[in-house]
Amino acid sequence: MCLFCDIVEGKIPSTKVYENDYVLCFDDINPVAPVHVLVVPKKHFDNIDALAADPEGALYSAEITKAISEVAKIKGVTGSYRTINNCGEKAGQTVMHVHFHVIGGAELTEKLI
Ligand code: AMP
Ligand code: ZN
Repeated sequence: MCLFCDIVEGKIPSTKVYENDYVLCFDDINPVAPVHVLVVPKKHFDNIDALAADPEGALYSAEITKAISEVAKIKGVTGSYRTINNCGEKAGQTVMHVHFHVIGGAELTEKLI
């Protein structure tokens, strides 16, 4: 069982922001800023390493990149947002279906890097 596969399949509800054949983007249930959207590929990859290693990785990575930009546009934060991917439990990944956080709408002061 994978939470984000269930969301992609509509078995668990989400607040959709953007969708195409490759990605579903929806509001994070526990937002850390006014804009906090998850960009999720519709195909299951455990993490970014699995995504990179997959024959379709380049295709999905390109679609994810475009979707991140589209989400920023829809939410009105073009040119002013942060994208985060946690890879692996030790890095804070809690849902083992690769996803990218798009965070914005506030001053992003807590800078890790
Ligand atoms: P990560 O810790 O990087 O794996 O991020 C997982 C994210 O999924 C967290 O920010 C959670 O708040 C979010 N999340 C968990 N369950 C749901 C859900 N049902 N709908 C939307 N976001 C969720
Ligand atoms: Zn999944």
